[in-house]
Amino acid sequence: MIKHEFKAESKRLLEMMINSIYTQREIFLRELISNASDAIDKIYYKALTDDKLVFNQADYYVKVTADKANRTLTISDTGIGMTQEELENNLGVIAKSGSLAFKKENESKDGHNIIGQFGVGFYAAFMVADRVTVTSRALDSSEAFKWESEGADGYTIVPSEKAEVGTEIVLHIKPNTEEDNYDEFLEEYRLRSIIKKYSDFIRYPIKMDVTGQ
Ligand code: ADP
Ligand code: MG
Repeated sequence: MIKHEFKAESKRLLEMMINSIYTQREIFLRELISNASDAIDKIYYKALTDDKLVFNQADYYVKVTADKANRTLTISDTGIGMTQEELENNLGVIAKSGSLAFKKENESKDGHNIIGQFGVGFYAAFMVADRVTVTSRALDSSEAFKWESEGADGYTIVPSEKAEVGTEIVLHIKPNTEEDNYDEFLEEYRLRSIIKKYSDFIRYPIKMDVTGQ
């Protein structure tokens, strides 16, 4: 399997991000939920001009699943998903915002709910995870791909499978250290309070599930 390296600037930025940009680690969840909401919005915008696409509100949601036994926190959405190329371009180049480009292209359309613009939010995941696995299936595609990274030293992309269109992001939560507690990001009450604090304005339902108590 080929390991792709992040671009040099990306590597430095990623290290900086993980260590200093965000003093509040908990905001990783806001960033991932914002991206999920943006991905659903993109389908919503597409449906405005595409007669073949019907937007049924009930089909669109974000789901946060904590699995304590496996130390994983999964954020999944039924949004527009990413092709192999998009995984490469959007997650392989730090500080490149696909959402900013999307906003520019769709400037004339109603509302402006797309949140992303700086292209760094996704990497906040590495503040709490030592491995991040993104499985995504793009709208109108039957193929899925899996992007995986352990941080600054690069990422891999391989073909995968996914029953539904959308994206699933699995955070392999870091082990606790003497100074830092990461277990809290697998606790239902803690996750609920973070979601309430930062993601209350999200227009789509955020479902939650906690297993392995
Ligand atoms: P921003 O949201 O500011 O654009 P991010 O670092 O948060 O930057 O995300 C980078 C890009 O990756 C997004 O612009 C989007 O194109 C893509 N992306 C991230 N998460 C998802 C997701 N859940 N579904 C679809 N695309 C996503
Ligand atoms: Mg974002």
